[in-house]
Parts: sequence; structure tokens; C-alpha cells
Amino acid sequence: MIRFEYVSPNSVKQALGLLSANWGEAEILAGGTDLLALMKDYVVTPKRVVNIKQLPGMHAISAERDGLRIGALVTLDRIADAAQIRRDYPALAQCVADAASPQIRNMATIGGNLCQRPRCWYFRNGMGLLPRTADGKSLVVEGDNRYHAILGNEGPAYFVSPSTIAPMLIAYGTRLHVTGPTGDREVDVEKFFRIPTSENEREHDLKSNELITAVVVPPAKGVRAASYEVRQRASFDWPLATAAVALQMNGSAVQSARIVMGAVAPVPWVSQEAAQAIAGKSIDERTASAAGEAAVSKARPLSHNDYKVKLAAVAVKRALLAAAGQAVPDVHNARGGAA
Ligand SMILES: Cc1cc2nc3c(=O)[nH]c(=O)nc-3n(C[C@H](O)[C@H](O)[C@H](O)COP(=O)(O)OP(=O)(O)OC[C@H]3O[C@@H](n4cnc5c(N)ncnc54)[C@H](O)[C@@H]3O)c2cc1C
Repeated sequence: MIRFEYVSPNSVKQALGLLSANWGEAEILAGGTDLLALMKDYVVTPKRVVNIKQLPGMHAISAERDGLRIGALVTLDRIADAAQIRRDYPALAQCVADAASPQIRNMATIGGNLCQRPRCWYFRNGMGLLPRTADGKSLVVEGDNRYHAILGNEGPAYFVSPSTIAPMLIAYGTRLHVTGPTGDREVDVEKFFRIPTSENEREHDLKSNELITAVVVPPAKGVRAASYEVRQRASFDWPLATAAVALQMNGSAVQSARIVMGAVAPVPWVSQEAAQAIAGKSIDERTASAAGEAAVSKARPLSHNDYKVKLAAVAVKRALLAAAGQAVPDVHNARGGAA
């Protein structure tokens, strides 16, 4: 074991003082379901672990003027079970209930879910976020890339964004509250995720001495939302492709749509093409299918993952049909509804 310092601050101010201006020196510990696995494998070797579980003000779900505030330390099982979320954001509740396993949802926090590190097997084997051969070629492009990105993969990043909840939060237009040494700020979840261009960067917009304190989901009255996940198995696993959609309808026609794909790119992938394909139209088998095709029209699969193009198109199509309240084949992973 590599020695590290373990600290449990009681205030946000104290916690911020214990974080570092450089990534890798100090790590935040929330539920620990990702961080501890990375530490056990020596992929992450911080000098200090800052346990934030005791920080005040980050454990509650509360209705605020600008929407529903979910503290960053609220666990996934509490989100899935919260009556208010099941009533007002049923697609979010279902998407969270589908993530991981009961044991993990019992520990995992929403802040940690958004900051969890990629499942890329090169990264998890200590080869870095942007693994390269000695002569600078991408190990992913040259190697086994069957689970890697089909969009946003111009390089040097080829991993896929792992959170299955982030696409749904983006579809609902969620914002993050972040605090750091220079004060508080807000960021759209959509803009939070970044494609790193060097090993010194992370997959998001957070600085190494900042904390997520809450997510705020705007009111969603009348929004029809749903997600669809294509998984190798129905039990706990990361899906191969997902889609989350949120629709504002004008009668039977789509007034506006947010369509976000997961597990296809280094960031949750917002598809303007798919949204345009259904603008002003009603959702049926034909229009949903056309939106799915539009969503992957710019996909550039790697050598071993062209199968994901079809899966992503199907995920978008089925999420749209589910959001519109229509029957979806193989319904076990399609959940949704209108608030
Ligand atoms: C078998 C298995 C299956 C899984 N399946 C899924 C799935 O289907 N869908 C899915 O989305 N996820 C899945 N996960 C991942 C799981 O949801 C995450 O590990 C979990 O949400 C991380 O939350 P945590 O509180 O345990 O974070 P931690 O492990 O404590 O932290 C994770 C990262 O986030 C940072 N962090 C934590 N909280 C904050 C904060 N408030 N501000 C800033 N940084 C912070 C930490 O420093 C660390 O880098 C699975 C995990 C396992 C082990």
C-alpha cells in the first residue's frame, strides 16, 4: 500500500483548504465506489484523501425557486426512491434506479457519479487517459477499441463518458453548483464535460481545488422524458449505448427536443441532428427511426466498434418512442413519462 493522509473536514471552507491546486495530489472521497477501486489498483495515488461525507448542506433534496436541488452527497438510491423525483422527474428516477447495483447505489453519490473516471481498460490498467505507444501512437486506435468512442473521437481521447445519469440530467437542462477558493459558480451539466487533450486534464470542467455542492434540475412540468440503454446484460454493467431525451410538445408535434447519447463519446453527446430531425413532427416509428439515423450520421467508428453505431441509433429511436408513450420493443430498459 502507498501511504496517504486521510482527512475528514467538517466545513466546505476547511475542505477547500485541503484540496490541491494540482490534479493527482489530493482526491475527494464521497461514496468511494470509484475512487477506492482506482486507489487499490494504483491508478490513482493521491498524497491526501479528503473525505467530504460530513460536509453540511450537501445531503438534502429540496424544492427551490429555480428547480429541484439535489445535494452532491445525496446517494443514488435516495434519488431513485424520492417521491418528489418519481412524481416530477420520473425518467430521472428510473434512469438512476437502472444504474449500477443496489449495493453501489446505496453508497454512490450524485456528485461522484458525475466525476467518476472512464471505464476504458487502458486507463484502468494504469496506461493513462490518452494511452500511447512509445512512438506516440494511440494504443486505443491501434488496439482493442470495441467499447470506445464512435463520436468526438478525433483524438487524442477515445474513452467514453461513463455516467448513465449525466445524459438524462443534460436532457432535463440541469445545472451544477460548484464552489472553490475564488467563490461559487454554476455550470450547465452539458458544458461541464470536456474532452481532455493532455494527461494533466480531467474529463470535466472542475478545477482540482473545487467541489460540486449540488445539482439543480429545472422545473419539468409537461416535459416528456425517457431513456433507453442497450446493455450486454440487464444486471449491473455499463451500457454499450444509451440515449436520454426530453421533449416539449405542442399538441402532437415536437416543439423542442434535447437528445443526449451516452457511452458513445468522451463526453455525453448532445445530438442537434436528431433534435432537428423531429422538430415540428409527431413521434412515430418512422420519425423516431430517422432521428436515430441522424444522431449517428457523423459517427466515425474505430477498427472494432462499428456495431455501436447501430446500437446508438436504436437507443435514440426507442428513447423517443418511450418518451412519446409508445410501445418499445424489449421494453425492460426503456423508462420514462411526463411530469
Ligand atoms: C459494478 C459497477 C457498476 C456500475 N454501473 C454504473 C452504471 O450503470 N451507471 C453509472 O452511471 N455508473 C455506474 N457505476 C459507477 C458508480 O455510479 C460510481 O462509481 C459512483 O456514482 C461514484 O460515486 P461515489 O460517491 O462513490 O464517488 P467516489 O468514488 O467517492 O468519487 C468518484 C470521483 O468523483 C470525485 N468526487 C466525488 N464527489 C465529488 C464532489 N462533490 N465534487 C467533486 N468531485 C467529487 C472523486 O474525487 C473521484 O474522482 C458502476 C460502478 C460499479 C462498481
